[in-house]
Amino acid sequence: MAQRQTAPVRFEASGAKSTYKSLDSPAQYVKGVGERLANVLTKLDIYNVRDLLFHFPRRYEDRTQFRRIAQLREGEWATISGKIVAVDNVPTRSRVKITKVAIDDGSGVANLVYFNQPYLRERFRKLYGKQIVAYGQAQGARWGIELTSVEWEELREEGDPLSFGRIVPIYPLTEGVGQGSLRKAINNALETYAPLAQDALPKEVARKHRLMDLLPALRNVHFPESEEAKREAERRMIFEELFMLQVALGLRKRDQDQPGCGIRFAVPPEYREELRAALPFTLTKAQERVIREIEADMSSPSCMNRLLQGDVGSGKTAVALAAILMAVKNGYQAALMAPTEILAEQHYLTLEDAANKLGIKHDLLIGSLRAKAKREVYERVASGETQLLIGTHALIQEGVDFRNLGLAIIDEQHRFGVLQRAALIQKGLNPDILVMTATPIPRTLTLTVYGDLEISVIDELPEGRKPIKTHWKSSTERLRVYEAARKLIQEGRQVYVVCPLIEESEKLQARAATELAEHLRNEVFPDLRLGLLHGQMKTQEKDDMMARFRAGEIDVLVSTTVIEVGVDVPNATVMIIEDADRFGLAQLHQLRGRVGRGGHQSYCILVGDAATDEARQRLRTLTETGDGFIIAEEDLKLRGPGEFYGTRQSGMPELKIANIFRDVPILELARKEAFELIEKDPSLAGPEHGPLREELQRKLRGLQLATVS
Ligand code: ADP
Ligand code: MG
Repeated sequence: MAQRQTAPVRFEASGAKSTYKSLDSPAQYVKGVGERLANVLTKLDIYNVRDLLFHFPRRYEDRTQFRRIAQLREGEWATISGKIVAVDNVPTRSRVKITKVAIDDGSGVANLVYFNQPYLRERFRKLYGKQIVAYGQAQGARWGIELTSVEWEELREEGDPLSFGRIVPIYPLTEGVGQGSLRKAINNALETYAPLAQDALPKEVARKHRLMDLLPALRNVHFPESEEAKREAERRMIFEELFMLQVALGLRKRDQDQPGCGIRFAVPPEYREELRAALPFTLTKAQERVIREIEADMSSPSCMNRLLQGDVGSGKTAVALAAILMAVKNGYQAALMAPTEILAEQHYLTLEDAANKLGIKHDLLIGSLRAKAKREVYERVASGETQLLIGTHALIQEGVDFRNLGLAIIDEQHRFGVLQRAALIQKGLNPDILVMTATPIPRTLTLTVYGDLEISVIDELPEGRKPIKTHWKSSTERLRVYEAARKLIQEGRQVYVVCPLIEESEKLQARAATELAEHLRNEVFPDLRLGLLHGQMKTQEKDDMMARFRAGEIDVLVSTTVIEVGVDVPNATVMIIEDADRFGLAQLHQLRGRVGRGGHQSYCILVGDAATDEARQRLRTLTETGDGFIIAEEDLKLRGPGEFYGTRQSGMPELKIANIFRDVPILELARKEAFELIEKDPSLAGPEHGPLREELQRKLRGLQLATVS
């Protein structure tokens, strides 16, 4: 199909700026944005007019009337306006430095309180006698009222209509630009450029859900005429954002559901019996169910694109083996990819027994293999002799040449990002894909990030597992914790000690682990066998260490978070996490999952003195539940989706205004509309969908979320 002309033709007057305005014009063309400001704005990812128009407020202040200082109530969040009448740094007995700024609004005086920012004194002193607006939380104090967590802005022009007497937008800022200049720039962009914006939402959808048109929505989202208008404008922009995302996901799903894109595997009648005979245990009901779901996918003519969720220890590997066996029985090759070499080897070891019994020829390909060994693996893979190739994701990045790859299993999805399929397809491969993750993914996220995947959940642990007992101990109880661990070691168990998290660098982290190991070896467990594992060790050294631990030759393994995922040593029943308050909730849960994998009672001991409420909440949650889904939901609440997954990593486009927790109802509506639309007009070819198609193309460029042909 011919591509529609999207960018307007420009008429360059010689040497002068383009005379043609479009949303793609550089932000600098907007009145009030000079070269300097344009430069600063790039730090906010604002390059052109569109970026500026879609730079949404992070909150609003109702400045139609300010709260009178005399009427402030304790605990209330309020905006006040007054003159600066005093500024001082206040001496304290502790190390905290306090700066107080007294504001008088005629009704009374309030102190703005800042902690540990002594330089503010000079800044405020320059403004002595000037009018400022301040927003913060009111606290009763010995002398009058105080405002803490204060945001403020100077009122340069008395009565500036963008900052006064209205609901005022408060934008995300960066150094070098204030609220005032950003408001002006955006207001100018709204006047001159916003009318050029194309409404990408299909009219029908907008009408059905009573959504505001784009232009008034843009105006009101920045400079609301009323609370009501603001809400409606936000609803419209949120809907649009989620709708676009869902259309993109829907299109990708459409591409994958095309019959003929996948392989139609046969389900060989004898394969289930063979599988059961090869496993040293009986499959759980959940495993059985998920295997049936995978069989259904693999035997259908479209591509399998399934996400397999199962908490740590739920037995995902056995399910993977079922899929592998089916692929191999059909004459195809299978690849199993893990995020790290340790995990790849772990998979190799776990699968080795069963693979041998089943006669599946398997190979391990990791970076640390010698060149010759690697070459041999390459050859076996290319000739088709290797039926199962296990390795890191380098498998699909390097020049591995499969003879007929029919199934790719990706373990621990969130480390890969969802775009790996694109990499495979680019190599001319289009295998069925099974993605496995131990991180329970809350439903809201599966709808947004994984909206194009089918989902299977192993929601049951193998029988006989004793729940892990989790305790939180303060650092003063550390020695007692070690002594308790020693008792269990004397009973024949093994212990992990995870050293405190240092995010700054791998090197520092390795040093911390080394020091902790030294300390434990010399002072605490001189009579026991200690091992050390960290990310700066050579692969060979790490392997040797893991092998010795697995063989029971080491009692206490001191480690960094390199053991976070997948490592499986059933005899290790104690997990001690030092300074546990520094870790995130999901990470702690993953670490804990390293124990509780055998028949013995396991323990997880969190050692740490949580300094913040949030940290306390995290540690408490962990002691209260072992349910990965509850923990994931809690984690998401505490940290927000961006950090939970790392937007870039997950391949999820950044959301500018929608919040997938708060906006679940809108998300569901948007999803329904998006999928219906694709059902009706699978390639968005209808002329009424022109603007939508253009907008999508713009958004998807570089994202590879889908193709719009
Ligand atoms: P994960 O889902 O964390 O990858 P694994 O596949 O590594 O879990 O399995 C964890 C442990 O449980 C392994 O030691 C495995 O042998 C064992 N296991 C898996 N399925 C079962 C089962 N149905 N019954 C008993 N043990 C099982
Ligand atoms: Mg696993």
